[in-house]
This record gives sequence, structure tokens and C-alpha cells, in this order.
Amino acid sequence: MSTAPASTNTPAVRDVIIVGSGPAGYTAAIYAARAALKPLVFEGSITAGGALMNTTEVENFPGFPEGIQGPELMDNLRGQAERFGAELITDDVTAMDLTGPVKTVTDSEGTVYAARSVILAMGSGYRKLGLDEEDRLSGHGVSWCATCDGFFFKGKDIAVVGGGDSAVEEATFLTRFADSVTMIHRRDELRASKIMANRAHNDPKIAFAWDSAVDAIHGDKSLSGVTLRDTKTGETRDLEVKGLFIAIGHEPRSELVVGQVELDAAGYVLTDGKSTRTNLPGVFACGDLVDHTYRQAITAAGTGCSAALDAERYLADLD
Ligand code: FAD
Repeated sequence: MSTAPASTNTPAVRDVIIVGSGPAGYTAAIYAARAALKPLVFEGSITAGGALMNTTEVENFPGFPEGIQGPELMDNLRGQAERFGAELITDDVTAMDLTGPVKTVTDSEGTVYAARSVILAMGSGYRKLGLDEEDRLSGHGVSWCATCDGFFFKGKDIAVVGGGDSAVEEATFLTRFADSVTMIHRRDELRASKIMANRAHNDPKIAFAWDSAVDAIHGDKSLSGVTLRDTKTGETRDLEVKGLFIAIGHEPRSELVVGQVELDAAGYVLTDGKSTRTNLPGVFACGDLVDHTYRQAITAAGTGCSAALDAERYLADLD
């Protein structure tokens, strides 16, 4: 049910607004649209389509036995959402007021939209090294996801940047495929928990570049190596690798909802049990914005579906 505007200055109150157009946002849009909720989706501007727009082959999304290019998969999801009547706006949301029964969302031009429910699907960003060539070689040797890309590095020498639990987990996983994995860490010991650190130290395929920072990334069509700088002496040296996995952390894009929606210490949106309900009635969250653990396109799509179903039930209870 949608309510007509009270005056020309008051936005129409929609059933559901979805913020985000990655696998989570578009899947939520497909389900909400097929439930006749006429969702309005804010896709974002430069990041429309989400994280998979920056990758090449996606081989692990079910239903594509030959794999599919990331942007093509996202175009398909977008088309599917539109086919069922989702309204898409390729703009960033700049503010949200989620506390009352009618929530408002403001776009970059200051236009305000209102809805009885909001689905948050803003994803999370991988922390980058901030080096030239990092983005250009993303999907061509530079990666942020061992689960996604490890398979492409069978028999290769590769490196992992980072020294925490995630970096060790990525490195250990990558030894299934790679001939050697060099862990590049700014300090002279791992930050990871003892048990994880021991796992890395005991793995014959894992070597360590201690006190080292990546200074430059090289490669024409694909990665050929990196330059390392000794963090103590400043000396540089080259390391030939075909893969560079950057595991220096994630940043959930929850900044717009700080102070309204409950977040954990790392900034991920907290949800109630297995549901996508946040602490605010009518506000649901899904995808990498809530997920420390899995961070895959299919898991994001799965929770996007759950968010639409949770929103649908919430709205049905209000009517
Ligand atoms: P995202 O895809 O990050 O989407 C977030 C969305 O929120 C974007 O559309 C963005 O525009 C929007 N947004 C954010 N802030 C705002 C705002 N203020 N206003 C409006 N919109 C906003 N996973 C796999 O399963 N297989 C793979 O092979 C694979 N490869 C990957 C390769 C790379 C290089 C990367 C970076 C990730 C890869 N992943 C892969 C992980 C996968 O992409 C993510 O797990 C998935 O995209 C998360 O989906 P999401 O919808 O939660 O968030």
C-alpha cells in the first residue's frame, strides 16, 4: 500500500526504499517488486552495481556453469529487478532519518523520499593500499578475496599483504592452489592470534617478508611483481609474484546510519538473530554491510532476499 502525498512539499510515502545496488540490494528489489511493493532503489553513483563491477570472471555464483563477468551478472540482476517494476535511481543517498514510522532518505540534490520501510544494502569496502596500478590490475592479479579468486592461481607464486587473522586465513587457503605464498607484513611478527600465526609458521608453502610494505605494483596486462620497502631501513627490493591478495581490512559503509541503527565495534550493522531486522522497526539490513564472515555475492543475495521478505511481513502487520 502506498499513501498519496499530503501536499506538494511532502513526499509520497512508499512501502520500501532500498539503499544499495549490489547483489543484496538488487535481490531485495526483485523480491520486493514481485511482492507488488514497488521498491525504490538507490543504486549509488560511481559505485552503482556494487563490488562485482570491479571484477572480471565470477565462477562461483550458482547458475552459471561457465562463469560470468561481474558487470554482466550485475546487469542481469538490475534487469530482473526492473522487469518486475523496481524503480531505480542512480544516485547516492546523502542522509537518512530512520527513527520514526515514516523514514526519509535524501539524495545528492536534496530531494527527500519517504517510506514505511527501508532496506540497507550499502555493502562494505575492501581497504586498499592506495597505490597506482592497484585498481587497474584488480581482477588481473590483484585481488581482495581468496575464496573468489584463489582458483586462478594454480601453480603460481603469490603474496598476501597483511598480518592479522584474515590475512593468515587467506594465505593458508591460497596454499591449496599456489606454489608459494609470501606474507608481506609491516612488522616483524604477525598480529594474528597465536593459533592462526602457528598455522602460518608451520605451513611449508608460506614464506614471510617481515618489516615490509608494498611500495609499487607492476604489470602490463596482468600483475608481474611488486616492489617492497623495508619499513626499518627504507631499502627496496622486487618480489616477482603473479597474484597479490590484499587483506588489510574492510570498512562497512554504515556512516550514514551511525547514531540511529545499532552497529558492532567494527561498524557492521547488527541484526536480530537470523533475521535482517535492525534495532529500528521497519529498517532491515543485508549483504556485506552486516557480514563479517562470508562476504560472497551469493550470501549477499541470500540476505537481500531475506530482507525483502522481512520488510513484506513487517508491512503486512502494519496494514
Ligand atoms: P556491494 O556489492 O558492495 O554493493 C553495495 C552497494 O551499495 C553499491 O551498489 C553501492 O553503490 C551502494 N551504496 C553504498 N553507499 C551508498 C549510498 N550512500 N547511496 C546509495 N548507494 C550506496 N564474491 C563472489 O561471490 N564471487 C566472486 O568471484 C567475487 N569476486 C570479487 C572480486 C572483487 C574485486 C571484489 C571487490 C569482490 C568480490 N566478491 C566476490 C565479493 C562480492 O562482490 C561481495 O560479497 C558482494 O558484492 C556484496 O554484495 P552487497 O550487495 O552486500 O554489497
